[in-house]
Amino acid sequence: MSAEPGSGPVLVLNAGSSSLKYQLLDPAGGDVRAKGTVERIGEEGSGVADHHAAVEQMSAALADAGVDLATAGVRAVGHRVVHGGPDFSDPVVVDDDVVARIEALSPLAPLHNPGAVAGIEAARAQLDVPHVAVFDTAFFATLPPAASTYALPRALSERYRIRRYGMHGTSHRYVSRAVPALVGRPLEELDQVVLHLGNGCSASAVHHGRAVDTSMGLTPLQGLVMGTRSGDVDPGLHSYLHREAGLSVEEIDDLLNKQSGLKGLSGVNDFRQLQEHRAAGDEAAALAFDVYVHRLKHYLGAYLVQLGRLDVLTFTAGVGENNAALRAAVVEGLGGLGLAVDPGRNASPSREARVISPDGAPVTVAVVPTNEELEIARQTVALLDGTEG
Ligand code: AMP
Repeated sequence: MSAEPGSGPVLVLNAGSSSLKYQLLDPAGGDVRAKGTVERIGEEGSGVADHHAAVEQMSAALADAGVDLATAGVRAVGHRVVHGGPDFSDPVVVDDDVVARIEALSPLAPLHNPGAVAGIEAARAQLDVPHVAVFDTAFFATLPPAASTYALPRALSERYRIRRYGMHGTSHRYVSRAVPALVGRPLEELDQVVLHLGNGCSASAVHHGRAVDTSMGLTPLQGLVMGTRSGDVDPGLHSYLHREAGLSVEEIDDLLNKQSGLKGLSGVNDFRQLQEHRAAGDEAAALAFDVYVHRLKHYLGAYLVQLGRLDVLTFTAGVGENNAALRAAVVEGLGGLGLAVDPGRNASPSREARVISPDGAPVTVAVVPTNEELEIARQTVALLDGTEG
């Protein structure tokens, strides 16, 4: 499976505990040659016993799609890893030591890192090309200490590696770097806020291309209201629920991660369903929408002040890219701060990156479809070529 340096597609893998998403793409133009998902890994009756079997199934599916991994000239495999902890602030070529260090970060991302490790191990065993790990936390390694530090005893934070790490960094990086071409101004001049609104949601403030604040923290639970995650709550809630409701730590964790957010407020975690219920006069859905928007405005306001100015506000991911009503609600009433959308532009259902604010608006409001796979492929190749990704 050898390839000339600098050429060939990149196989991007996103391995979770029970699924393996894959995409074979050209890192330069972004053309996707094939993609798919192997699901139910390790589940009874699924026929996919473990991640090794999943990689075999992926190879078979690719062969069915006309791609023979052995002869396709695959340049490298780029792996998505959620948590790089304090160790990894840049992509890294995977070796045994790197795998051990990613595994050692599992306490910081117990739902994510073990699956990534299993995926990396299986892919390394079967695909004899360079493997690169790209971390979802890496874009936020540049946060100033004032933004990344929790007000806890310092010795405790050091010992247990407690800080704000941030997640969805690959998406925030991709989107904030796609904005300059869209608005015709250099990255080094722009102050940006990016709102990644999917099942998981996060906001970031990006000053001249560098992340300076973000809403997720030690874990992906902090910040915005999400599909099933609460986002910010009073830290005192935990002990209150323990004392008054008799809930255990595990039960509280489950409650805040899986039973809260839009689902907890309205019964549904999918934004399209929420919109339907809201349009039908469902009061719980209306309140859920309002809480979601209120929290977004809270972070937008905070980042406006942290940055001191704002050039571009960008919406991305499933909700951000597709939901015009949500985008309009976020900037509603903010005309005095230079923020507005043009109703016609906002409503046009385009799949392309686009500006949705009126011409000449003080702040450009944009929609940029995210592409984490392409960002991972680009960073993989940039690392191997020794160039800036
Ligand atoms: P993601 O995690 O980026 O895949 O985003 C998932 C979320 O995006 C879900 O809440 C979906 O309901 C929402 N979503 C996806 N497509 C649309 C659409 N066409 N209109 C409104 N919401 C959408």
